[in-house]
Amino acid sequence: TPEGLGDALIPVVNKLQDIFSQASLDFKLDLPQVVVIGSQSSGKSSVLESLVGRDFLPRGSEICTRRPLILQLVKLQQGNGAHAPQAEEWGEFLHLQGKKFHDFDKIRAEIQEETARLSGFNKGVSDKPIRLKIHSPHVLTMTLVDLPGLAKVPVGDQPGDIQARIRTMVFEYIRHPTCIILAVSPANADLVNSDALEMARQADPQGTRTIGVLTKLDIMDRGTEATAMLRNEVVPLRLGHIGVVNRSQHDINTQRSMAEACAGEAAFFEEHPAYLEVASQCGTPALARALNRILVDHIRAVLPHIRGRLEDALSRRVVELQVYGHTPPGHTSAQRGALLLQLLDAYAVRYSEMLEGRSEAL
Ligand code: GDP
Ligand code: MG
Repeated sequence: TPEGLGDALIPVVNKLQDIFSQASLDFKLDLPQVVVIGSQSSGKSSVLESLVGRDFLPRGSEICTRRPLILQLVKLQQGNGAHAPQAEEWGEFLHLQGKKFHDFDKIRAEIQEETARLSGFNKGVSDKPIRLKIHSPHVLTMTLVDLPGLAKVPVGDQPGDIQARIRTMVFEYIRHPTCIILAVSPANADLVNSDALEMARQADPQGTRTIGVLTKLDIMDRGTEATAMLRNEVVPLRLGHIGVVNRSQHDINTQRSMAEACAGEAAFFEEHPAYLEVASQCGTPALARALNRILVDHIRAVLPHIRGRLEDALSRRVVELQVYGHTPPGHTSAQRGALLLQLLDAYAVRYSEMLEGRSEAL
């Protein structure tokens, strides 16, 4: 499988989420929502697909994403050992509860149908989201949001104020201080005209939660390259810009696989000497790492809070047990809670070491 948000993102996050889900204590490690914004056809849906490592979103040269898609990734526990059955992967829509989609092409078809159901067939846009859950052993439990592109001129059945409507819809998602913004701009257009960067700046003036994503590096005008943008010199962003190469329309038409596209992206950056000096800013794996870093920071920030709540819950539990004159038998929630506390402390130390550069990988 290509290196997507599942495999590239630190196993520690998974580990923590696993422990929380098993602790049967009422805690959840909520990761921030990741939202993609940008002008129409800038490559938003493609970026999300590369991150998830699966091929399931409607994409194309016309407006494809016409309703917000709230994509909830749910990590499945994978069996251990050589003979453990391979966990299955499936999608389920909120509007079709109980129906498991194992075929990702059918997921795309259903998104298209459900889009048409509310926004019509003629390019209409609706702010009513479609909710899709993907269960897979290869993802992190977190939420990604795909949004309609920022458009300036109404087409088809779109109302005259389409631009304002889409902007309002996008802002509704990105204004939340915990939301991570992937501001997607095509590298074959001038970055200073990027709708994504302009809106991201409004929602996140400090730039603490905006990552710039440059798509279409493969189809830039001959004689131009994106190194200045990637060196953060053109439109400086606090968290910088990452350049990616997604599948082209031709790749989509000829059903080029995700794995091939991934290898193709890596080859593209290796073959272009100009990108050597900015290698850390190039490719979907670099984007996954950048996201990773933000998620780790987030977890670090919420750890003390989680710890406090755990300790409260634990001491209440102990008092309860004493009241009933019980000594805790093996494997109680209280014991799992205590174990969880120990693990949290250990991880907190690892995080700090990693961020100070003393420990390489988590
Ligand atoms: P969205 O409207 O922003 O969601 O954009 P899509 O992801 O639907 O992509 C729009 C079109 O651009 C599709 O035909 C994609 O194949 C194409 N595309 C996206 N990213 C790239 C890229 O990095 N390189 C090339 N050559 N084409 C791309
Ligand atoms: Mg799209």
